[in-house]
Amino acid sequence: MKLFENLKFVVVDEVHQYRGVFGSHVANVLRRLRRVARFYGSDPLFICCSATIANPGELASRLTGLPMAEIARNGAPRGQKHFIFYNPPVVNQELGIRQSVLKSTRRIAERFMSSGAQMIVFARSRMRVELLLTYLEKAGRRVGIKSGDVRGYRGGYLPGERRAIEQGLRDGSVTTVVSTNALELGIDIGRLDVCIMAGYAGTVASTWQQAGRAGRRQNLSAVVLVASSSPADQYIINHPDYFFGRSPEHATLDADNLVILLSHLKCAAFELPFLAGEQYGEQEITEILDYLVDQGVLHRSGERYHWMADTYPAEDVSLRSAAPDNVVIIDHKTPGGRVIGEMDLFSAQEMLHDDAVYLHGAQQYHVDKLDWERREAHVMPVTVEYYTDAQRKSELKTLTAEERRPYGYGELALGEIGLVSKVTVFKKIKLGTHENVGAGRVHLPEIEMHTVSFWWELPTDVIDEMVAAGLDLGDGLQGLAHLLGRVAPVFVMADPSDLRATAMVRSPFTDRPTLYIYDAFPGGVGYARRIHQQFDEICASAREHLDGCPCDKGCPSCVGPAVESGGTARQAAAWLLNRAGMAAAGA
Ligand SMILES: [Zn+2]
Repeated sequence: MKLFENLKFVVVDEVHQYRGVFGSHVANVLRRLRRVARFYGSDPLFICCSATIANPGELASRLTGLPMAEIARNGAPRGQKHFIFYNPPVVNQELGIRQSVLKSTRRIAERFMSSGAQMIVFARSRMRVELLLTYLEKAGRRVGIKSGDVRGYRGGYLPGERRAIEQGLRDGSVTTVVSTNALELGIDIGRLDVCIMAGYAGTVASTWQQAGRAGRRQNLSAVVLVASSSPADQYIINHPDYFFGRSPEHATLDADNLVILLSHLKCAAFELPFLAGEQYGEQEITEILDYLVDQGVLHRSGERYHWMADTYPAEDVSLRSAAPDNVVIIDHKTPGGRVIGEMDLFSAQEMLHDDAVYLHGAQQYHVDKLDWERREAHVMPVTVEYYTDAQRKSELKTLTAEERRPYGYGELALGEIGLVSKVTVFKKIKLGTHENVGAGRVHLPEIEMHTVSFWWELPTDVIDEMVAAGLDLGDGLQGLAHLLGRVAPVFVMADPSDLRATAMVRSPFTDRPTLYIYDAFPGGVGYARRIHQQFDEICASAREHLDGCPCDKGCPSCVGPAVESGGTARQAAAWLLNRAGMAAAGA
């Protein structure tokens, strides 16, 4: 208790990460911390650090519930840094196919390796990390670098292994590391000479964060972004102004989100009884406390609300809402069976199915048996000339529809949906050339997540109306899904990754063109419901956003790059929004 009595400072690093659902949880944890500190007579000062975002002061203020003073100038000395955008050459003129991002990254990284520079290579998936690692380890040996000095880093490695790699990066013994975004932030690995990104990190902020891994105080450093052929990558590489000119993304959170607030109020009541009329954040909470009394969770005696259930409430609150289950990977050729790593269930289906070749720290393992019931994968070391790549099929099922209401143009509804996905086949791919050399089937159960979705059903004759206007419904819906996926989170104070938007020209459930926006968390956290209530305002704001976008046929900020959503997406999405607006205005 001495800790709380004497608590003077609380430092919150990387605050830009605390946004959306995760940030809303952390804001409540800090409210609870301040409440307990107050009880012991202290009122600590909060110091927050953030990577470059558009609104660091505002975010820190929402997170801590306190006014913040923003210090935005960085006076630290810096060496010169070169930022290189690299678009791989076109290798098939007819089909417009470019050299793969893996091959290009490998080639560039090998050249830096022989110069002796300490380097980090970011790849977008665990599979790519392992492939690049396999190639770079081999290349390193040719120029006299020991294989232990070239390391991989990703989720699924054991903690001890990860700590050793971090230490090696700090003391310089690890010269090259290939990583997923796991090394993007937080972990102290010092600064390196070179950063290569195999593909655009998806947001401007993440890209700067990765690039920030390169650059010591005095020395020259280099950052290379290698574009993949995906529409987003090609857009960024061809529009450097979009990347360098734009102020990065806004971050926000909603500490009063009812679902999140409720679970933290339980924890807070467990920590200290609530007094009638007590303030918690900005919120008047008496009504919620009385509700918890009705539910038998709290007990009111006099002016106090006490915790009365016999469980510990924090066990039911997951700050990241992540699934706790993991598959343990066991090398059963080692006597006694050695655990080499672990993996979440979702990824395990793709990377640890029977007969998969699993790469771990550039060592190949054959998966002899994935025991799904026991959550164990039994593997043994092998040396083969291929790796495996499994494919997942996903579909969205509507389970219930409630709160259906006519909307000028079509109908709006809210309901529970199931997202079902299943791995059915895998390919064998040759190392080095990436040729397809075989295939196999996978027999594993489906994984299903239930959540809450909002949707907008359009009348079927919209197709003819749009054809008459020279527009394509598919382009329009896809563009609109992309646009609303960016605009709606702002309205409900969510992070874009907290929501998903998807459109179907003919939904199997409604039998009509339908646009879905759903919470990306099991059970939902209330975002879809608020979108259902505020859809008019969201459409109006989307229209304004689209009208104001300086691009020609679409970009990642509005309806998506034209190659992805089709040449007429921008016009077609505007047409749909105008129809919605006219209908809403009663025309
Ligand atoms: Zn645009």
